[in-house]
Amino acid sequence: MESTTRPPVRLLVFGRQGAGKGTQAVRLAEQFGVPHISTGDMLRAAVREGTEFGQRAKEIMDAGHLVSDEVMLGLISERLAQPDAVNGWLLDGFPRTLQQGKDLMALTGADGIDLALDLDVAEDVVVERISSRRVCSSCGANYSVQVPPTSPWTCDVCGGEVTQRDDDTEQAVRERLATYLLQTIPVVKWFEEQGLLATVDGVGDRDEITEELISLVTNRLF
Ligand SMILES: [Zn+2]
Repeated sequence: MESTTRPPVRLLVFGRQGAGKGTQAVRLAEQFGVPHISTGDMLRAAVREGTEFGQRAKEIMDAGHLVSDEVMLGLISERLAQPDAVNGWLLDGFPRTLQQGKDLMALTGADGIDLALDLDVAEDVVVERISSRRVCSSCGANYSVQVPPTSPWTCDVCGGEVTQRDDDTEQAVRERLATYLLQTIPVVKWFEEQGLLATVDGVGDRDEITEELISLVTNRLF
């Protein structure tokens, strides 16, 4: 049996939409050799594989409802019990509410979460980032107001029309940020009260932010 000298690494990553959370989560998981567990990806996989919770989740979504905290926790519980998560994991997209945070802590035990990272980017910055995005409606190539196609607004790749997604309008972004403030900020604050939160400035060079996150986790855990 292979032995490991390092303690488990069990991380949560928080951040507003547009804070670069997904990118940093993937990099951190790779760095520490733990699975990157994205609840969005997981939900789709559970439905595809037809697990017990996956089937329940599918029924709920097919009926046009949101998946409940209980079902989400069931999915997380199944996932954390997989062999690849034995030495740790990184959760991305969960918990989203205070209740989910408390449920997760009940599942893992008080010592079962090592650190929660919060990528802090001011609301106006993410609104600017997201609302300036443009995308080719044919091939999905990404552009922005700052980096438009050569011939506005025709895709350099395929000649398709480059437009703004409905989800990316300033109003849509502000609505999602309001939900984050209302539902997710309380769980971030709760992890801070537990002494488990580290906040990192999410504005700046991506690689430097990755380095800062890695050294934070390393100093805290090893
Ligand atoms: Zn295109």
